[in-house]
Amino acid sequence: MSSLKEAQYRELELKAHVSQEGITFDPAIFDHADVGGEHQEQVHCLFEYDTDTHVGLELPPYLVLPHGLVALFNYNRRSPNRLERDGKRFFLVRRDGEAIPVEFAKRPRYYRQETSDGTQMRTVAVHNTDGVVFVAYSNECSLKSTGKDCLFCNINATRDTYGDAEGVRWKYPRQIGETIAAAYAEGARHLTISGGFVPERREVDYYLDVAESIKEQTGLEDFNGTACIGAPQDLSIIEKYKEVGYRTLAINIEVWNEHFFRAYCPGKEQLCGGQKHWIAALEHAVGVFGRGRVRSNMVGGLESKQSTLEGIEALTAKGIIAISPAWFPNPGSALEGHRSPEPEWHLDVARKTVALYRKVGFTWDQIYDANAAPTTLVHDIYRIEEGRLPAPRKAQATGTVRPATEVRP
Ligand code: SF4
Repeated sequence: MSSLKEAQYRELELKAHVSQEGITFDPAIFDHADVGGEHQEQVHCLFEYDTDTHVGLELPPYLVLPHGLVALFNYNRRSPNRLERDGKRFFLVRRDGEAIPVEFAKRPRYYRQETSDGTQMRTVAVHNTDGVVFVAYSNECSLKSTGKDCLFCNINATRDTYGDAEGVRWKYPRQIGETIAAAYAEGARHLTISGGFVPERREVDYYLDVAESIKEQTGLEDFNGTACIGAPQDLSIIEKYKEVGYRTLAINIEVWNEHFFRAYCPGKEQLCGGQKHWIAALEHAVGVFGRGRVRSNMVGGLESKQSTLEGIEALTAKGIIAISPAWFPNPGSALEGHRSPEPEWHLDVARKTVALYRKVGFTWDQIYDANAAPTTLVHDIYRIEEGRLPAPRKAQATGTVRPATEVRP
């Protein structure tokens, strides 16, 4: 293995650790850091991934590491990792004092724009790095009011915490079309539409209207969109998503073990035909969209590694891009305060997932097109193996750097 590749894999381990352990900091280091100006800020349209909420404090969504990997920004006041500032430069300081230079993502230009009805585009579509945008049409889930919401999910709590402060609301097809057109005009090339359950499950009509609006506003027939939906009662409506122009479909099964599914996803179990029906919906979708054009997420760490990998193997063999991104126990969810497995657990699942993908021939393009965020460890292994990362930043070439500010214990 080349020394560059070795360094990239070390950075992958760092990313897994930092994402899970989080980072703490003195909020004053963000004074004049221009988060929300030059740098992209977090917009809470669906979930909160920080361990500690931070209303009124603008934080970046990611840390960009020296070799180009992007780590989720997870604010955790009890973390052993500190973010420090030295002049204009930021450093991630590890428990042992090692200081790693980090950067923040540049803010997309469309974050400054408004739709024709005056809605801030940043509240309509979030930029998830590498040309991927994500639209959560609603920032609430009707399962909450029935007590059947998924135990790991904090969509309603996130709305209650940030909804008013950040102005995130229900999105209309025209707003989405205009925002996607603006994002694509500056280089975005994939989108996902998702959201919580709406009463009466009228999502199909809405998704069709959204697709028409995107096509009208972008002028694209194939806009490289993923429709993320719940398993429909009538599987034949899956064809409609394909007909109207979505390239890929996502139906998230969340956990593989059927008993865990019943316990963790009571609404999906009781109102949508149970786990067998979700699997049937995925199989049907492959028949419509094709192999490598249907994705299913499992929350990484809710069940044993063996069960997770069994699920990934079984679904992958059927042509479904099954993926298990690391679980971040969400504040406000029923599982708040729980812990995700060790970083090495997630790295091992990612490595084994890539091996399963290689067996069935899933390509980078298929993985990129089917996922809502191209930031998983699986994506990164593909990037490293296929030489898709940018040249490392210069600071890395000089080795470890220590910030001028004192590193507090
Ligand atoms: S269906 Fe489950 S995961 Fe999806 S928004 Fe509702 S509670 Fe959350």
